[in-house]
Amino acid sequence: MAKKEVIFPEALALPAIGQGTWYMGEKASQRKSEADALRAGVDLGLTLIDTAEMYAEGGAEKVVGEAIRGLRDNVFLVSKVYPWNAGGAKAIAACEASLKRLGTDYLDLYLLHWRGDIPLEETVDVMQKLMQQGKIRRWGVSNLDYDDMQALWRIGGGSECVTDQVLYHLASRGIEHDLLPWCQQHQVPVMAYCPLAQAGRLREGLMHDPVVNDIARERGISVAQLLLAWVISHQGVMAIPKAGSVMHVKENAAALEISLSDDELARLDNAFPAPKGKTRLDVV
Ligand code: NDP
Repeated sequence: MAKKEVIFPEALALPAIGQGTWYMGEKASQRKSEADALRAGVDLGLTLIDTAEMYAEGGAEKVVGEAIRGLRDNVFLVSKVYPWNAGGAKAIAACEASLKRLGTDYLDLYLLHWRGDIPLEETVDVMQKLMQQGKIRRWGVSNLDYDDMQALWRIGGGSECVTDQVLYHLASRGIEHDLLPWCQQHQVPVMAYCPLAQAGRLREGLMHDPVVNDIARERGISVAQLLLAWVISHQGVMAIPKAGSVMHVKENAAALEISLSDDELARLDNAFPAPKGKTRLDVV
């Protein structure tokens, strides 16, 4: 079975599962195991690593820096800027600080973490400047809903945005109403965060749901693998689960090769239907 991929502009194909890093770098005692997990993930093909200046206030970026030492060329590195830093000199300084913590001189992708008070025009402008300076290769956004994306596309250069990173998992399907179809139509890959609903913490009962568990048992896969396979079954969607152990990383990497049948997808659809109308973009 071929490993699933998502296509970014310029025909760049990336594995449809990457690695998240929220809550990494919080505890000194766990830094080594977190970096080991990330390195194991890269070895297994989970080459996209997602981090942010926000996570552990730079601590997660330091863990990633440790993990990718000597591996930089094998990794697609993503970081995010706080909305209040996403314009002018502050954005340049924030990006430079991220690069320093990550021990690299460029990001593959830099995202606006969420929309704040700085006008999108200013963010687009500084993203273009960072690209010209060679500090970032591409830019994108996160937590922007359908209407925000329309606003972004109306700005000169706004449509150079290469992704929208949003919350998406089996029990939170609001984006399927308008945002996801729009992104698919415009070839903007969607990066699904919290694909495991934070191991069920965001949706009590998801990991214990009988339909989910029946299908996982029938297929001989874990519930986490089923949830990841479901996310990446959608065209143009990649998942970025966070895993703090090599065991979890191995499981997640194996989900790249799991395809769900039409019957399995229909059963999951029935148990967790997509909303019929517009719903507020889910965020954490
Ligand atoms: P996830 O849905 O990825 O869940 C993470 C949890 O799942 C952790 O407790 C982890 O445990 C557990 N887990 C991972 N793999 C397995 C497995 N195979 N079996 C069982 N449990 C597993 O939630 P996140 O909030 O971390 O989201 C993923 C990433 O998305 C973040 O880390 C971050 O990079 C990004 N994100 C972006 C946001 C944004 O606003 N742009 C917001 C939230 C997240 P353990 O650590 O023990 O392995």
